[in-house]
Amino acid sequence: MRDIYIALGANLSNPKQTFIEALDKLRSEDVEILNVSGLWKSPSWPPGQGHPDYLNAVAKISFKGTPAKLLQTLNDLEESFGRERQERNAPRPLDLDIVSFGQRILDSETLTIPHPRMFTRGFVLLPLEQVAPNWRDPHSKNDLQYYIARLPLQDVEAMKYIGTFYQCN
Ligand code: AMP
Repeated sequence: MRDIYIALGANLSNPKQTFIEALDKLRSEDVEILNVSGLWKSPSWPPGQGHPDYLNAVAKISFKGTPAKLLQTLNDLEESFGRERQERNAPRPLDLDIVSFGQRILDSETLTIPHPRMFTRGFVLLPLEQVAPNWRDPHSKNDLQYYIARLPLQDVEAMKYIGTFYQCN
């Protein structure tokens, strides 16, 4: 069974509503939504830029296509929510990343799996722990707790758990 995890983030418009609509739209794109973490609030990253706080979540999905096809689907969805490709870390109505795709390890110009920045980001690791407590990096085989334990305390303390927001069935 290949479990695929995607991270959702947004700090513009109405992120909670956007996530619900985005997950509903994914369902109509041959994506099965198996489980969704609760909603978390985290300060915009990198710190100190004065951008609005983010809301974040992670979804466990099933998808029969390739990683590249999934990335295309996610990029199209981001655009349908008004996301324009701007400078890195600009505020956004919807950001969708592939966290991991079964045991696949990929490093191409357009796609790196597992997502290279997930290991140091509490806003990915903490929601991921809710839907995949036994997750392991397919490359290093380190488990999730290994990475969570290495997060700076201030990053973890800055995250606020809001609660569940999406029912899968
Ligand atoms: P960002 O602005 O952070 O959303 O970057 C989006 C771009 O990152 C995409 O167009 C992809 O080409 C690239 N990318 C590389 N690896 C991944 C991944 N695992 N998930 C999503 N986007 C990725």
